[in-house]
Amino acid sequence: MGKRWGLQKNLITAVQDLNIKEIKNKTSNLTPMLQQYKDIKSRYPDAILFFHIGDFYEMFLDDAEIASRALEITLTSRNRHSEKKIPMCGIPVHAAENYLTRLVRSGHRVAICEQVEDPKKAKGLVRREVVRVVTPGLITAEGSIGTKANNFLVSIKPGGSRAWGLSYLDISTGEFRVTELPGESEVLAELFRLEPAEILLPEGQKESPLVSQVKQTIPEAFLSFRPDLWWQDDRATSDLKGHLKTLSLDGFGLAGFSSGIGAAGALLSYTVETQKGETSHINCLTPYHLSDYLIIDEATKRNLELLANSLDHGRHGTLLEVLDFTVTPMGGRLLKKWILYPLRDLSKIEDRLSAVEVLKGDHSVRKGILKELRQVYDLERLVARTVLGTANGRDLLAIKESITRIPGIKEALEGLIGSIPKETRKGRLLKKIFSALDPLQDIADLIERSIRDDCPIHLREGRLIKEGFSSELDELIHIQRDGRSFIAGIEAKERERTNIPSLKVGFNKVFGYYLEISKARAFEIPDDYIRKQTLVSAERYITPELKEMESKILTAQETRLTLEYELFQGLRHQVAAAGPRIQETAAAMARLDCLSSLAEAAECYRYVRPKLDQGQEISILQGRHPVLEYALKEGFVPNDIELNHQDSQLLIITGPNMAGKSTVLRQTALIVFMAQMGSFVPAEAAQIGIVDQIFTRVGATDYLTRGQSTFMVEMNETANILHNATSQSLVILDEIGRGTSTYDGLAIAWAVAEHLLYKDKKGVKTLFATHYHELTELAKRHHRVRNMHIAVKEWEGQIVFLRSLVDGAASRSYGIQVAALAGVPEPVIKKAREILKEIERKASHNGRKAPGDCINKVRSRQYLAQMPLPLVIDQGTEFREKLLSIDINHMTPLEALNYLSELKSMAEKGQK
Ligand code: ADP
Ligand code: MG
Repeated sequence: MGKRWGLQKNLITAVQDLNIKEIKNKTSNLTPMLQQYKDIKSRYPDAILFFHIGDFYEMFLDDAEIASRALEITLTSRNRHSEKKIPMCGIPVHAAENYLTRLVRSGHRVAICEQVEDPKKAKGLVRREVVRVVTPGLITAEGSIGTKANNFLVSIKPGGSRAWGLSYLDISTGEFRVTELPGESEVLAELFRLEPAEILLPEGQKESPLVSQVKQTIPEAFLSFRPDLWWQDDRATSDLKGHLKTLSLDGFGLAGFSSGIGAAGALLSYTVETQKGETSHINCLTPYHLSDYLIIDEATKRNLELLANSLDHGRHGTLLEVLDFTVTPMGGRLLKKWILYPLRDLSKIEDRLSAVEVLKGDHSVRKGILKELRQVYDLERLVARTVLGTANGRDLLAIKESITRIPGIKEALEGLIGSIPKETRKGRLLKKIFSALDPLQDIADLIERSIRDDCPIHLREGRLIKEGFSSELDELIHIQRDGRSFIAGIEAKERERTNIPSLKVGFNKVFGYYLEISKARAFEIPDDYIRKQTLVSAERYITPELKEMESKILTAQETRLTLEYELFQGLRHQVAAAGPRIQETAAAMARLDCLSSLAEAAECYRYVRPKLDQGQEISILQGRHPVLEYALKEGFVPNDIELNHQDSQLLIITGPNMAGKSTVLRQTALIVFMAQMGSFVPAEAAQIGIVDQIFTRVGATDYLTRGQSTFMVEMNETANILHNATSQSLVILDEIGRGTSTYDGLAIAWAVAEHLLYKDKKGVKTLFATHYHELTELAKRHHRVRNMHIAVKEWEGQIVFLRSLVDGAASRSYGIQVAALAGVPEPVIKKAREILKEIERKASHNGRKAPGDCINKVRSRQYLAQMPLPLVIDQGTEFREKLLSIDINHMTPLEALNYLSELKSMAEKGQK
């Protein structure tokens, strides 16, 4: 501690009245170090400055207050008793990584200001520079990001009415992509899929509604703003060309991109600004088009619990948990991507399925591949670290370790490919992977020859480089070694010469090597001894011979440390230069890992290969819910589902609560989903016409946890489906309309169902679970609607769930039986039965019509139009237009309710 304060004394005294505003105004009377601090801090006003002094990174003023709170470290201050005290805190440099990560994780930007010259050699003030700015979207430290998770930085170029640009980067792996999207809502949806840690926007947008939308969509993301001109076409294009070392961006498939290039260019500028040094691992910008993928919206990602469950956002109970048998971090990340972006291209899906089939077919080869892959480290991130200059010796060893697995993997793959009949296309993807796997023997050899197996984490301690790699280093090592034994020899020699057996050689930092003799014998020393120090009971001497050897050893030591560091940097550079080859190999391993993982899942859970085509039909024989089946272990009841545009386009699924309606809905969506990501599926057979989008909507009451105006949310999402679903989409509606009164809810549910029947001319394939029995009447009116229900058996007044989906509408609702099953006390159940009987009796007595009948009446009165109208409750075009004209997205809940009440009174008028 004493040393720490000593080193800072200069700064501390000068900082005495320090306060940033004052620093800004004051230019005179500053010590050079303070002037330096001030200059640097003023260039990074929005970052916490880690100011390297001695063995510490120090923080001052506001920075210190924020950091001490976030890191729970002591906030000290100089001038404690004065009014002008200066808060400060510091962290030891050797432990900085951990603190840094915590600060950034809690949403701060940190600028790391290093001493960029050796303090011992500096003339006057040590030069300091910010060497790196770390932000939540640009973390590279190992341990700070989940190994199987990406950490994305996204840049957005708002396009107004033109296309919007969106680009993202994971700096820890070098993945850099760009796309263009039609508008804000698509951009928000993509943000939701990517879940970036940081979002970069043009400064001009700071006050715009976009920013509040973004904050709402991804509340956890850190927002950064940079000058608008970074997004400008010309600047972005030339920045990208310069960085990617290309004369034209067309080679990357970016022809026709405009706002996307703006977004990517700005992102690159930001990366260069923060990383300072090398970023050459970002060597490819890959465009992507959402139209290539099966698109899911925010609600669907959540409802289907693909990556995170809705309880605690954890992995438990998700599709990812079930399918993830990956053994490498890059495979884990890729699998997530496959889950978020299933494919639409038939031949690409078939390629994946075939590879899975081949891998599934040969159990022992697959196990062999997985065994090798398990030994592979996170190559993508290791390469990034070599390029960014943060890799240490152990990182290079990890690269070597990983590389040595490649021949084994290639051999296994070769055997596998050889067993596939030549005339089939089955081996296409595996062959591609095989040829993308570069054995990288040269890199393995280089590291093998150079890096010591026991090298330390730190790079300045020496013991990094093997003997035999550099003759210059070997010489230094010999001098050191010989010198030491020479000095040990001196002790023996001098003992003999002086005849003083207690004479010993020692070393301290002030005098270096010395000879120590007890005071009693000190008078016997030879003439060439030079006295250096007198202790209570001993004298210390040096001799010219000792000093000469000492200087040789010490210089050798120092030169060796510097040389080893330099040699290491050179090696790191060489490995970094092979970065693209290693990255390509890592990507191939990731794919192989994912495919093996899917094969593993297929075998483990007895999945089958789905048949895909461009048709419109979805036919699943004995399908199962992949996650529920996994959770239940046994006793899951499989079900068939048939969807087509002839007689089963809209399935109305009824049945009591807890029967299994939601389950059968989700399992259908998940099976389609899995098929298009290239996975086998939980069914006995599945025929799937490729789907462009899956929409799911779960009724408001299933959502109480979200704490929003649930009905509003529900209607919002319903509006989204009605606008965007096409005849190639699959829509899952689970109890919509529940968030409002019965008749409103029914009216909406009915209207939505009919709209979907005629949407996009052919209508949309829809599974609709509902407790509105009235909806089952739709089947009588439309031949493409089919009623199904989940069978239950009544037995001694009790209800038994059979879980099987059968034709026809459920006969009754069984609410009371379910209540009994749930443990509602017997007297209450009894009372409820009596009340129900009474109600039913009165209803039939009064001839009260069910809402379905009311709708029927409206319909028959209006039966003038030749075309089937998309809406049942039809007051002619007026009503329809009124309904179509609303923009639910921009209504307040109050407006929505008022509107609904208007619609209702119109409908009521129609009934009279
Ligand atoms: P609903 O939507 O009809 O109220 P759910 O689909 O939520 O019912 O199912 C309720 C519970 O019933 C599930 O949590 C599950 O435990 C069980 N279940 C549903 N479907 C099946 C099935 N096919 N086989 C076995 N258990 C099932
Ligand atoms: Mg349900």
